[in-house]
Amino acid sequence: MRVLGIETSCDETAAAVVEEGIKILGNKVASQVDIHSRYGGVVPEVASRQHLLSIVPVMRQCLESASLTMHDIDAVAVTCGPGLAGSLLVGANFAKATAMAAGKPLIGINHLEGHIYANWLTGHIPTLPALALIVSGGHTDLVLMKDHGDYRLIGRTRDDAAGEAFDKAARLLNLGYPGGPVIEKAAKSGKPTLKLPKGVIPGSSDFSFSGLKTALYRLAETGQAGSPNDAAASFQEAVVKVLVKRTLATAEEWGVNQILLAGGVAANGRLREKILQDSPVPVSIPPLSLCTDNAAIIASCGYFHLVKGERSGLDLDVFPSLPFASTGGRA
Ligand code: ATP
Ligand code: MG
Ligand code: FE
Repeated sequence: MRVLGIETSCDETAAAVVEEGIKILGNKVASQVDIHSRYGGVVPEVASRQHLLSIVPVMRQCLESASLTMHDIDAVAVTCGPGLAGSLLVGANFAKATAMAAGKPLIGINHLEGHIYANWLTGHIPTLPALALIVSGGHTDLVLMKDHGDYRLIGRTRDDAAGEAFDKAARLLNLGYPGGPVIEKAAKSGKPTLKLPKGVIPGSSDFSFSGLKTALYRLAETGQAGSPNDAAASFQEAVVKVLVKRTLATAEEWGVNQILLAGGVAANGRLREKILQDSPVPVSIPPLSLCTDNAAIIASCGYFHLVKGERSGLDLDVFPSLPFASTGGRA
């Protein structure tokens, strides 16, 4: 089965074709990062307009690069939440129109569940049960995955998401946007010299990153943060340390076969290095391009729902605050 995936939940317009849930035939992403960087963050109205301009060319390029037409596609999968309402609407309506015109089934996908499926596109199929660490711009979730569609949320952030923390820290250190990549780059020339809070909620599997950010702010404000490179290294080290520690403790507690990294922050080199070093269980780490937003993860996730006979109607709606449901990631 070949699934066309469509993703427009934030500021990437993306289309992909994936075969049997695991083989990428085409994968195109049009990033709007240059447009939003001048504002220091994503401007929702600008994002949805840009999706409108990009979605048709991105899908055409994707099919062309795979030498396929809609006749070769068996179903359409689209992100229906969580994300920016105006952005989600462009993708959802485009996917509905495409599915209807081609007479193919449609499936709405939870963006966060989609992120996990980057791990099915690496060439190695994960062994379940697994623990997924989803670290992205809007989420920091530890999810126990017993089977496809069978999830349990074990831990999450109580305040800022890990990616959001990187973005805010970069802003207060005047390093630019998006924060993750610029902090990582600055950290390479610095040393983790600052003492920062731990970023945990004692006695639970939850994270808290706002205290870390505030501590960095106070140090910067009073001129005690040292060089921006050292501050970036300290911040990155503190975030990575707590992510790895909590993930490994939770993995041990639940006796999982594997750890799966997912989401934009999983592109962080220090996080990838440290979790591989410290983990007693195998860790699946998708390539950078599959960690950040793309449509191949949506197509893969869609496949595993479609083979169970699940379908969405053409009345599929978008859900900007769609939670990662405990019994399944889809609305
Ligand atoms: P969500 O998936 O929660 O809806 P999103 O789709 O905006 O949010 P992603 O695209 O998955 O998030 O990830 C973007 C985030 O990843 C940004 O906050 C960015 O700073 C962070 N990020 C990207 N690369 C890196 C990196 N190398 N190190 C740390 N963080 C990174
Ligand atoms: Mg993005
Ligand atoms: Fe995302």
